[in-house]
Amino acid sequence: GSMGTVNAREIRAANENYAADFGDKGSLSHDPARCFAVVTCMDCRLDPAKFAGLAEGDAHVIRNAGGRVTEDVIRSLLISHKMLGTNEWFVIQHTHCGMQGFTNDEAQERFAADSGSPEAYYMDFMPIRGTIEDSLVRDVSRLRRHPLVPPAVTIHGYIYDIETGRLIVSKKANEIGAARV
Ligand code: ZN
Repeated sequence: GSMGTVNAREIRAANENYAADFGDKGSLSHDPARCFAVVTCMDCRLDPAKFAGLAEGDAHVIRNAGGRVTEDVIRSLLISHKMLGTNEWFVIQHTHCGMQGFTNDEAQERFAADSGSPEAYYMDFMPIRGTIEDSLVRDVSRLRRHPLVPPAVTIHGYIYDIETGRLIVSKKANEIGAARV
């Protein structure tokens, strides 16, 4: 069949190399070996495997625009804990995030205008309101207060600095996210 675009060709070539050195990773457990999950932004400049030192089988990584604690992120974290044994969660948002600087109303208006569809007005694009730390603290608080999140789970809040590659601990988010038992 057709190899399609340049991107598809390159992905297939990279995957050939990856699979050639796959070793014994086929026998990894589906329970994360290091018992933690990371929630972070989809931003292409962030590579959680590199900045947090993760290998296959180590941890869950859940990504979306902004690294926001959405319903679906909560769903994934609950499964991560209950079915797959993680007991420590890291919410990592970052400086210079593309989800800053616009409101949900503005995003809705823009999508509605460009598409001509009223569907835009039913979407919550969840842009970041206030500072990154405000957003991080709000999202960690949401998780900590969620009735299905057990008090024994530790929730960390970090800000990744796009300019240095460093993780900055948010004291406020960490205090709120601390395990309650
Ligand atoms: Zn981002």
